[in-house]
Amino acid sequence: MLYFSNSQANNLPDLGSPDLVEYDKQTEQQLGRAFNTALHTQYQLFNDLETNAYIRELGHKLASFTGDNRNYRFYIINDSSINAFAGPDGIIGIHTGLIEATETEDELAAVIAHEISHVTQNHLSRRYEYSATNGNINSIASVIAAILIGMYDPSAGMATLMGGMGYNLQQQLKNSRMHESEADSIGIELLYKAGYNPHAMGDFFGRLSKASQLDTFKAPEILRTHPVSEHRLAEAENRAQNLGKQNHLKPESYLNFIKMRLRALESTQAPFDSKTTSSADKEACYNQALKLIESGKTVAKCLAEYANKTENLPVFTTALVESYTKNDTDLSAEKLEKLNKLIEFKLELHPNNPSIPLRYSRLLAKLGKTQQGIDLLEKAEKNLKYRYELYNELAELYSKKQKESYVYIYLAKANFEIGNIDRSEYFLKRSKETLNKNSNKLKQEIFIFEDKISKLLKNNDKKENN
Ligand SMILES: [Zn+2]
Repeated sequence: MLYFSNSQANNLPDLGSPDLVEYDKQTEQQLGRAFNTALHTQYQLFNDLETNAYIRELGHKLASFTGDNRNYRFYIINDSSINAFAGPDGIIGIHTGLIEATETEDELAAVIAHEISHVTQNHLSRRYEYSATNGNINSIASVIAAILIGMYDPSAGMATLMGGMGYNLQQQLKNSRMHESEADSIGIELLYKAGYNPHAMGDFFGRLSKASQLDTFKAPEILRTHPVSEHRLAEAENRAQNLGKQNHLKPESYLNFIKMRLRALESTQAPFDSKTTSSADKEACYNQALKLIESGKTVAKCLAEYANKTENLPVFTTALVESYTKNDTDLSAEKLEKLNKLIEFKLELHPNNPSIPLRYSRLLAKLGKTQQGIDLLEKAEKNLKYRYELYNELAELYSKKQKESYVYIYLAKANFEIGNIDRSEYFLKRSKETLNKNSNKLKQEIFIFEDKISKLLKNNDKKENN
């Protein structure tokens, strides 16, 4: 474990000054893990499987054009304020309010591309590094999360806890106008390469800025950390203009389906108003299906049709499965067999989409086929980038089978995924204590996982001794 001295941050160095310690990857990764834990334990993440799969697919697609091999992570904060942020070590947060506020997938992609560009240009790592070397890493991560999410309240206990640090951090986390222009410009190129409209960046920030001038009390959170100026907007427009005609293939957008989910899951919101688009029929079907799922009534007929037909949209398949899971009517053996085949096919088409195996394993568990659900998830594991939900689900399924040691190893793995190494070690210990000596498969798994943790801790120690 690494502990930093608790010196006060009263004399902040100029961020551009060369006397700052050199950018330190290990410190950033450590802060990234603490930040990840803070997000998962202190804030309300939006854990809808389909919405996460959608945002993550979009985020990683954009990130794939950066040319860096950083371990980006995309999380959704359940918060209606219009906000997005780039945290330490490539962790990017998107508020549900931002998804609602974007009018097209191009605009949503623009904000994500902008945040990714703050990361590739190291706009933040030096500030994060500076904070990380001046306090307890878990408290610093909590304060950074509070500031970025827009929950930092200097009048509350947090300020007392952190002394001058909170205020200074808050000042530091504002992006400079120069950084904003740079993130726009790199982001616009990412947009273009990924097939999106490069004008969407200026359009979205311009619209937000205009709206906030009309009503300063409702200024979107994102404008606090991302100041907009006329100059910035003109530059963005120029940059987009210079890229010329878009000649990359435009991705099929399913933002509307995701917005319907947001509306359905937050019952306080007005229902989704499906505009006439080329996919109006599909959207109407999905919208109706979501209502039926909520009420636990019959399964919408059109769902199965679209699930079998639409190759690009896994949302119909997972809605069909969700519908059977929440529905009381019995699923005939024949229907289940058909569904099995459909899932197999969809898994081949979308091997990296966790919503398909996770939804299906829940249905299988409901039907008393827990082992089949476990097999499905354990098979899906290797293809998935995000495994937190998967490991928690496996722990849940193993607890149904009363296999304690398996429950603990998956809880250990789940905590590892969100950077909570202390919890992870604790569950690993419990798993070893409850291990049945005849279980060679699990013994092997524990051994491999233990090795993974100890390598990580050894790296931290190395840093401490430097
Ligand atoms: Zn920005």
